[in-house]
Amino acid sequence: MAHQLIDGNNRPIRYMRVSVTDRCNLRCRYCTPSADFVSLLHSQVLSYEEIERIVRILAPHGVNSVRLTGGEPLVRKHLQRLVHSVSSIPGVDDLSLTTNGLLLEQQAEDLKKSGLSRVNVSIDTLKEDRFQWITDPQGMRLSDDLSSVMAGLMEACRVGLTPVKINVVLMKGFNDDELEQFAELTRDNDFEVRFIEFMPMGPNGFWNEDRVMLADEAKTRLRRYYPELDPLGRGEGSGPATRYRIPGHTGIIGFITPISSHFCVQCNRIRLTADGKLRTCLFSDQETDLIPLLRGNSGDNEIFEAIRAAVREKPRGQEITTKGPAACARTMSHIGG
Ligand code: SAM
Repeated sequence: MAHQLIDGNNRPIRYMRVSVTDRCNLRCRYCTPSADFVSLLHSQVLSYEEIERIVRILAPHGVNSVRLTGGEPLVRKHLQRLVHSVSSIPGVDDLSLTTNGLLLEQQAEDLKKSGLSRVNVSIDTLKEDRFQWITDPQGMRLSDDLSSVMAGLMEACRVGLTPVKINVVLMKGFNDDELEQFAELTRDNDFEVRFIEFMPMGPNGFWNEDRVMLADEAKTRLRRYYPELDPLGRGEGSGPATRYRIPGHTGIIGFITPISSHFCVQCNRIRLTADGKLRTCLFSDQETDLIPLLRGNSGDNEIFEAIRAAVREKPRGQEITTKGPAACARTMSHIGG
């Protein structure tokens, strides 16, 4: 292997999240910019060939895990072409996808055949009316979308896009009374349900301190129903989650704690935005624009050196608190979560 890509604090970079589009077919209140927001033009978005090139440059340097995200990655046409080319790159041994699941039922089998390893599906509520409220502030869509998402989830299991993880952003007053129902999903299914602390970022002031539920409080509530919540070690592919199993259940419960116990010390990730900016920290607006290099005459070596220089400056860490929005100019729908 060529030299491992390492940041200025000696952390090896092994994981890249790639936002393949800023467009989304949901408009989650806490994530998507307001309706008058103008999407990127097609020409501003990285082409599949450009994404593939960057992965090809980085894979020999130890970046062997890639996640496709967005926006909503499944709204980009022919995503399976990208999946096929990226999963065929020597050194890429884990290619995953984060999706809202709405189009997953139709695409899961093709994605699996094209080389996708696994999926994370974001579902913040199991109640149809709440689902509509959080994902569709203007009441524009059909009311059986949650059923489509659940069908996508089951199809992902059927075709083997496993382990299937379910991302639940915990929001007080919205879904904190559904912890048990989410935990019940792990009884007979091999899902990993991951409760995520609501981070102080977003488009329109939907986030506020009172909505944040920290993992410890969620665990205390869950223990009322399941007193024997068993901690598990950090497993292969568990990422930053701390994991538990309810005795007798097939699946796993995880907690992701960017606020109460942030994981910067072990951060091994970089992000590529849909418009070709390399971002070395979710909460830092320091970005390196790769488009001029990709579309100019730069060779792979020059591109690698630009990435290496950016990675060297990766912030040591960010203190995220419940006290207010982070200084983060872009929304999650732009950066890719
Ligand atoms: N459309 C895809 C989806 O829904 O999974 C991928 C993009 S979405 C930005 C990626 C993830 O970021 C989702 O699981 C979403 O819930 C999460 N997310 C967005 N804003 C967040 C916030 N303020 N705090 C925690 N998670 C957030």
